[in-house]
Amino acid sequence: MNDAEFEEQKARVLAVFEKWSVPLWLEGYDTTFYWERTKGPERKMEGGDTHWQTTLKVNSNWTHMDAAITAYLGTIMNVTEVELETAVVHECMHILVCETRQGEDKGDDWLDHEERVCTMLAKAFMTVRQYAKEGKL
Ligand SMILES: [Zn+2]
Repeated sequence: MNDAEFEEQKARVLAVFEKWSVPLWLEGYDTTFYWERTKGPERKMEGGDTHWQTTLKVNSNWTHMDAAITAYLGTIMNVTEVELETAVVHECMHILVCETRQGEDKGDDWLDHEERVCTMLAKAFMTVRQYAKEGKL
């Protein structure tokens, strides 16, 4: 990834985050981005040898309303705008719900419920946005 591609991918992520941060009430958070040129870590899919490749990850300190989003631009350069937007909204959901984490890092599935909640909320917000575009709301 050359410097121009790096800046282009950063701009894509920031544009999506800036569009969503206000309506998702994230203005009060101090959110820092970390930019990785590499592809994201692979996560094995259940029941096969296929892997998901991480586009973004978030760390959030809800007590201080700080958040850090790491963007793996080597992966992001290969995703569509809709995929990127869904991923950014999903990470924003983690920022909003992270205070519900209990028993962090105890076993392989400790984050599964939060992942499910964030996925459903992100899909709901994306659908609401689409409905609004179509004048259905
Ligand atoms: Zn997630």
